[in-house]
Amino acid sequence: MSHDKHCIAIIGVGAVGVSMIIHLVKDLIASRAAATEILAFERSGRFGTGVAYQPDLDAAILNRTRHNMSAQPQYPADFANWLARQPDPDCADADYLPRPLFGRYLQDALQQAVDLAATTGHRVRLIPAEIIDVKRQEDVYLLLSDRDTWRVKHLILATGNQRSGQFLHLRDKPGYRHSPYPLVQTCRAIHPEQRVAIIGSRLSAVDTVIALSRQGHRGPITLMSRQGYLPMAQLPQANAPLRYCTVERIAAQKTACGGWLSLRMVFRLVLKELSAAAGCRFSAKRHKPLKGDAAALLDLDIQALDAGPRNWQAVFVALNAVIDELWRSLRPQDQQRFRDFGYSRFMALRVPIPLPSALTLQKLLKREQLEIRSGIRRIDHADGGFLAQFEDGSQAMFDIVVNATSSDNRLQNTADPLYAALLREQLAIAHPLGGVEVDWADNQVLAPSGAPSGGLYAVGNMTCGTHLFCSVYETNTRHCQRISRQLTERLHRPATHPI
Ligand SMILES: Cc1cc2nc3c(=O)[nH]c(=O)nc-3n(C[C@H](O)[C@H](O)[C@H](O)COP(=O)(O)OP(=O)(O)OC[C@H]3O[C@@H](n4cnc5c(N)ncnc54)[C@H](O)[C@@H]3O)c2cc1C
Repeated sequence: MSHDKHCIAIIGVGAVGVSMIIHLVKDLIASRAAATEILAFERSGRFGTGVAYQPDLDAAILNRTRHNMSAQPQYPADFANWLARQPDPDCADADYLPRPLFGRYLQDALQQAVDLAATTGHRVRLIPAEIIDVKRQEDVYLLLSDRDTWRVKHLILATGNQRSGQFLHLRDKPGYRHSPYPLVQTCRAIHPEQRVAIIGSRLSAVDTVIALSRQGHRGPITLMSRQGYLPMAQLPQANAPLRYCTVERIAAQKTACGGWLSLRMVFRLVLKELSAAAGCRFSAKRHKPLKGDAAALLDLDIQALDAGPRNWQAVFVALNAVIDELWRSLRPQDQQRFRDFGYSRFMALRVPIPLPSALTLQKLLKREQLEIRSGIRRIDHADGGFLAQFEDGSQAMFDIVVNATSSDNRLQNTADPLYAALLREQLAIAHPLGGVEVDWADNQVLAPSGAPSGGLYAVGNMTCGTHLFCSVYETNTRHCQRISRQLTERLHRPATHPI
């Protein structure tokens, strides 16, 4: 059992946990803090890669170029520089590199932070354990695994997404996979001739199709989702500076409008930015995500890239810097409306797939091995396979079902013991739009009273209700930077100060 007034715990050491550790170690050193112990818990026992960057097939590629992926937002080229130092930089020429390679970078960066802490009087302990319960006792948090207990003063939740809560009735059925990752295991479990249904049509679903194709799958593959939107294709391009959606302009407009912006105002502001980049009036209709006749639309989309990168796509990337500012300027009812009616389309536009992935989809669609279907109603296990029913009344049978949907992270009825404990102990409240409620400015978790649960922070997907867009590494690393600064400042405060 550890009890130290300078003890910080991080639950979850995926990509975000790594960024958190790096920032904490550096800030502890810079602020000349007293010797501090960081306890970092990871239930998988594999530290540093999390779900997205775990060892896997190279078919899993980054959706951003090497110059935009870094554990430290203040050094955007950190990964590119690491790569240049590698003796055998596999696929070094590719624009979009394999995610497992980024995982190796993260593991190296984590080790460096652990070593740096050790040489400067601090300590990072990597503990392979799942935290299943949390309690607050006076001014410390009690963390429990199934075997041990730890007492810490500060606690950071970096647990990633909740597991998908959809299609749980299929969970134990042979031929059903609740997640596509690791892709290598999914591909291994599928015979090349089998009929495969992939639920979802975003990046994880596309990853699964590409992996199956590369592994020589010959049977039919169906991508199915409610909306049937495919992400658009993209070419690598330089970052775009924002002209209209700047923090200052958003703040000024909010002040002029009495503290809130309407959804219409936010759309107008974003359209203005997109139009400036496109060099003509941006029409959301013209750039509709791919739905309907998927093959024909994908052809058009790919053709359009003959003219070069679409500048407006770079604007969507640049918007990462202000998206939570725009989100915060909306009233709760407008946030809810956007989540219900606009989010799916926004994500299909916002999170494009690299052109090589789009070309593989095109090839598979042309030879009618791949089909995109919208309007999935339900899937049941039947006759040793799976029966899918669609809203138009049609049905289809499959041998394999891969669930490539992501969790919406809503915590009502959560089966995750850690979050169930946080809610039960009144240390956190579920955000109606997903995750826990956090203070927008510093990611402190809010208690039912609305006040911060002193010393408790969350970062990453479980803050999606407050920040909307937490599925981009860059955004999460900025939040890690902010939390680390705040927390190391707190360590300096006199002991009498309430935590
Ligand atoms: C498949 C995929 C591909 C992506 N590709 C990109 C990309 O190309 N570019 C980009 O910018 N972003 C990408 N993202 C999004 C972004 O990288 C994610 O926001 C980030 O990877 C999430 O990292 P994380 O550490 O928060 O979550 P995770 O990777 O899920 O890590 C969380 C860790 O916490 C552990 N954990 C959870 N609960 C407990 C507990 N109770 N006790 C102990 N350990 C626990 C889990 O085992 C896990 O290892 C991708 C995301 C996914 C899922």
